[in-house]
Amino acid sequence: MVSNSLVHVLLVSFPGQGHVNPLLRLGKRLASKGMLVTFSAPEGFGKQMRKANNITDQPVPVGDGFIRFEFFEDGWEEDDPRRQYLDQFLSQLELAGKQAIPQMIKKHSEQGHPVSCLINNPFFPWVSDVAESLGLPSAVLWIQSCACFSAYYHYSRRLVPFPTEENPEIDVQLPCMPLLKYDEVPSFLHPSTPYPFLGTAILGQFKNLGKPFCILMETFQELEHDLIEYMSKLCPILPVGPLFKDPKPPTATVRGDFLKADDCIEWLNSKPPSSAVYVSFGSVVSLRQDQLNEIAYGLLNSGVSFLWVFRPPPKDSVFEPVEIPDGLLEKTGDKGKIVQWSPQERVLAHPSVACFVTHCGWNSTMEALSSGMPVVAFPQWGDQVTDAKFLVDVFKVGVRMSRGDSDNKLITRDEVEKCLLEATVGPKAAALKQNALKWKAAAEAAVAEGGSSDRNIQVFVEEVRKKSVENTSKPSILNGHEEERSV
Ligand code: UDP
Repeated sequence: MVSNSLVHVLLVSFPGQGHVNPLLRLGKRLASKGMLVTFSAPEGFGKQMRKANNITDQPVPVGDGFIRFEFFEDGWEEDDPRRQYLDQFLSQLELAGKQAIPQMIKKHSEQGHPVSCLINNPFFPWVSDVAESLGLPSAVLWIQSCACFSAYYHYSRRLVPFPTEENPEIDVQLPCMPLLKYDEVPSFLHPSTPYPFLGTAILGQFKNLGKPFCILMETFQELEHDLIEYMSKLCPILPVGPLFKDPKPPTATVRGDFLKADDCIEWLNSKPPSSAVYVSFGSVVSLRQDQLNEIAYGLLNSGVSFLWVFRPPPKDSVFEPVEIPDGLLEKTGDKGKIVQWSPQERVLAHPSVACFVTHCGWNSTMEALSSGMPVVAFPQWGDQVTDAKFLVDVFKVGVRMSRGDSDNKLITRDEVEKCLLEATVGPKAAALKQNALKWKAAAEAAVAEGGSSDRNIQVFVEEVRKKSVENTSKPSILNGHEEERSV
């Protein structure tokens, strides 16, 4: 039974795996500090989450608090072709969410669990508008690095020159950062990006930056120290990561995967220590067939064992159909395993895994760093290109295999093989591992009781509690001003 005295926060997530994971992890962290957390996302993703993770309507106890799920309809049929077009889909989500979230908040208030704070992740900046219109505080969870936050911030405020149509190849110097080559800046900010609407969607949050009272960040003080100090003077930043490294994991498993993970731990158990490579390009990236073939044969020729997450893109998706080259697994025998979805956190913590061939999404980046896992960086777009730069040149835990999809360069099987060997055997591999282990220790210290991220979570929880008291002593907008509810 959830006590009415628990302060209640509502988390509203964009329906993407890379968005859901960090927000849900934050939710668990807040619940463990004694809050009631309701996690919400559009029903389409909710349906997949419920199926893959046995989610029910019951609140799950986590530490001193609870977490529960409540999804909202986005108003489109499941097979609506407009879902493929993110700009159209985002507008629809905003329209539907602006109706559904206030109704959800009203219902909880009537049930004795008034919401004290709303938290959203990027692509949903309208959540702060909903909060403001209801007289509630809001916060954002920024799910990329502080470096990328700074890039978007400086771009949106035109504080430093970025590549333009006229000057597409200028380098970008941001405060407290190494010089970024034009193709190391988050690629959605580059004039040549084929995905300008993604840049616009992220920049939407920067237009609304005055509304959230706090920007929680999936990073930690020790990882991006000077940069966090610098940006904290400009924005109310609280680094709270790595959120996946839970110092006190809940007894019940609470996960937000859109697919059930295939079993691969037994296969890893059968491999010698530090002998296998883990290959995953996250939940969105889909490679061209020729590139996929080169990676496949690079893996085969290198002779390493590999666990590869591969799903052909869905039939109606914008990506061209691709498949693993015929006969690859016959040639590799038990040395190769392909799965549709892996339990990535467990894989990265497994002693048989020597390195991670990654697209450098920020979640994968943080998970690798905090698991002490060296990487082969194979970024494609967006923040991945900046993350790759940091993994290789700043955190010094990786080998660079590509610069991103902007140069349209095919990485050959020989290059793949060379990178794999560099990251798994010899003195370079040993140095990468040593650095990775240093980051693992730093990450563990940050989230441990009294560590920098743990203290920041505590500060946030106390601030929300304080605000909830201030809010209940004010006349309630929800009960008193019906007309204010329509946003
Ligand atoms: N992930 C997973 N199993 C897989 C592939 C990915 O659990 O087989 C998780 C991974 O741990 C990470 C998230 O999915 O938390 C992917 O987020 P990321 O930011 O790395 O990439 P995106 O999918 O957003 O491009």
